[in-house]
Amino acid sequence: MTTTTTYQQPNAQGYYGKFGGAFIPEMLHRNVEELRSKYLDIIYDAAFQKEFRSLLHDYAGRPTPLYFAQRLSKQYGTNIYLKREDLCHTGAHKVNNTIGQILLAERLGKKRIIAETGAGQHGVATATVCALKGVECIVYMGEKDIERQAPNVARMKMLGATVIPATSGSKTLKDATNEAIRDWINNPVDTHYIIGSVVGPHPYPDMVARFQSVISEEIRWQLKEKTGSELPTHVLACVGGGSNAAGAFYHFLEEPTVQLVAIEAAGNGVHSGLSAATTQLGKPGVLHGSKSLVMQTEDGQVVEPHSISAGLDYPGIGPLHAHLFDSRRGAFLSATDEQALEAAFNLAKKEGIIPALESSHALASLEFLQPESPKPSEAPVPANAKFTKDSTVVVCLSGRGDKDMATYMKAMNIQ
Ligand SMILES: *Cc1c(COP(=O)(O)O)cnc(C)c1O
Repeated sequence: MTTTTTYQQPNAQGYYGKFGGAFIPEMLHRNVEELRSKYLDIIYDAAFQKEFRSLLHDYAGRPTPLYFAQRLSKQYGTNIYLKREDLCHTGAHKVNNTIGQILLAERLGKKRIIAETGAGQHGVATATVCALKGVECIVYMGEKDIERQAPNVARMKMLGATVIPATSGSKTLKDATNEAIRDWINNPVDTHYIIGSVVGPHPYPDMVARFQSVISEEIRWQLKEKTGSELPTHVLACVGGGSNAAGAFYHFLEEPTVQLVAIEAAGNGVHSGLSAATTQLGKPGVLHGSKSLVMQTEDGQVVEPHSISAGLDYPGIGPLHAHLFDSRRGAFLSATDEQALEAAFNLAKKEGIIPALESSHALASLEFLQPESPKPSEAPVPANAKFTKDSTVVVCLSGRGDKDMATYMKAMNIQ
């Protein structure tokens, strides 16, 4: 008997090691318990899998290519493959999860979908699948974020969703989450809450990881076709809440020869006070319904994170990732705003691919993983995490850069 349940599956209470669980108000117990008791039976039902797989294929455009990046490989002196989640419908991996959850909601008999969104990417992915199924969609979004993310607000509206501003507190993601939870408490029977990453109370982290695990399922057979082996030496992914990383790592979690590398956003620098490098700065705490690592003050107040990429601008990390960090199964590095920008421009010029700013953090870490790295990393790089000329390095390119053009234009001094 191997210890195969350690990383891929939390225990019955939803714990990965010390992290996870379900810390929720009494009034949500019924909803979360309904989900917990049914989700595995529903998602592994043959008819569910058939519809899920067919939508991933025909609607989302899967399998996404695994692309050997020849010029990037030459630059870093190793073999680099890009997992092209940027080619998914809606431009990122998020739709894998929202397709899964809309099918689940349908089977639970839910007629109404709620979600919260920060930058609007998860809101768009949710509005998309609600349109697909003709289901009512309510997206809560901080008033400040609505101003900052006008194109995504317009997309959600065009897709038929209702966007409700959260006007309390800092008027950002945290307040939108509170509003969504309040809505769910008030509508426990007919409403499903679609969470967008491997965060939230059990069973969300496990459920979202399972929906996103299609990423590593494909990487295995695609690598086998290209190299003769299903196993890479390294898998790299950026981490906001951690869903693209969980999906890219999933089928390698129990393969100890595969080095898993998660890259967080260091913002202006890990210790600058403007950062989102949760594993470097966080302490155990409860955020959004589960116990994990959280950026917080001495007295437990959540610290406002900062990153140039909206998708990584989150003060926590999913419990699976906290466990990967705590147990050292994963190496956790970080890249600054500036390093991510540099990596985005480099990929554009070297491979003709404009990546999302989030994904650019994963690309930036290639600098630190070279045998002789000219650029020191702020987070220590374990010696065995470095690659060689014979390594097979898979980078999860979680999304495309269209949504980030305003930031890229500013960096190029184009107004
Ligand atoms: C939302 C987003 C992320 C961060 O979310 P995870 O749950 O950590 O994957 C990363 N990349 C892109 C392109 C995103 O849209």
